[in-house]
Amino acid sequence: MSGGTHLTTARRVIIKIGSALLVDQETGAVNRRWLAALADDVAQFRARGQEVVIVSSGAIAVGRRHLSLGTEQLRLEESQAAAATGMVRLAHAYQEVLAEYDLTVAQVLVTLDDSENRRRYINARNTLETLLKLGAVPLINENDTVATDEIRFGDNDRLASRVAVMVSADALVLLSHVDGLYDKDPTENDDANHIAEVQGEISAAVQGMAGTSMSYDGSGGMLTKLEAARIAMAAGTRMAIADGTELNPLKRMEEGALCTWFLPDANPKTARKRWIASALKPAGTIVIDDGALRALNDGKSLLPAGVTNIQGRFERGDAVVVTAHDGREIARGITAYSANDARRIMGNKTSEIEGILGYRGRDEMVHRDDLVLS
Ligand code: GLU
Repeated sequence: MSGGTHLTTARRVIIKIGSALLVDQETGAVNRRWLAALADDVAQFRARGQEVVIVSSGAIAVGRRHLSLGTEQLRLEESQAAAATGMVRLAHAYQEVLAEYDLTVAQVLVTLDDSENRRRYINARNTLETLLKLGAVPLINENDTVATDEIRFGDNDRLASRVAVMVSADALVLLSHVDGLYDKDPTENDDANHIAEVQGEISAAVQGMAGTSMSYDGSGGMLTKLEAARIAMAAGTRMAIADGTELNPLKRMEEGALCTWFLPDANPKTARKRWIASALKPAGTIVIDDGALRALNDGKSLLPAGVTNIQGRFERGDAVVVTAHDGREIARGITAYSANDARRIMGNKTSEIEGILGYRGRDEMVHRDDLVLS
């Protein structure tokens, strides 16, 4: 596959935009021309049926000028105040340029907590899935206003990779002002070689190329980009580090512009199934009848109707074991209902769930995408 194809064949793409590309560092103004061209790129993706999520930095850079905060290092609460002011303007700018293509922007602000707390993670995942299904373009940034030092991502490179994992994205593109990884710092070494592809894993040799400091790429630096690549690859998401300084950076990538691709061995689906099968500690057991057993073997989801017993205590989003009547393990999966709710709806038709629980949850108790047969 050529570099461009890695992008055009991705069903779901996350684009991370660095602050320096978007915001004039002197005036704090959003670079409208650049953003309009980016919207054009995004519209091309959508026209091809690809889903796009944007992770954008720049709230603090825009906001600080409007609050006349000057150019010196900001205190945490000043950055938070700046972000509150800047995010409104930033979101408005995205909304305006994407509206030209009839695309709807949906603002989603997240913190590190949201990607580590299981229930919030599942909620964020479900909301993003729903937005994408409805054709919107989620615009994500860190919720700087409420994040304290301890719960800050601090850099949107890692935030973007967590979001990519959350929505099982096929590809993640980090747009900044470097065109990829070099075997040594290209700003100091004329003979530095560009690396077009890193396959499978970030080896010690690759890690060494990033240097130890912020090295040749501003805020996040090459180190956080490699960290983002590691997170993305473990979930089967391929990632690119690409230069976004010119107009239409995504189109340029498609046409073969220099960049570095980090290519995982698995795809998001197989990586997720691997994770379900091995990494998760089951919190309980769902016992099913013969009809449900046949359905699972046919590749179908597990519906409440085929469930005869629930053992253990678990919450929505926890890992569970699915067994037959005789205790034989049939599958492992992620449950869409807590043990309490599962007990109430087991043996009932999907259409009866809402009447029993008082809310409309998922039709399946364990969706087939969240299920791995043993
Ligand atoms: N969340 C910060 C902002 O929007 C950016 C963090 C980063 O530059 O990676 O201003």
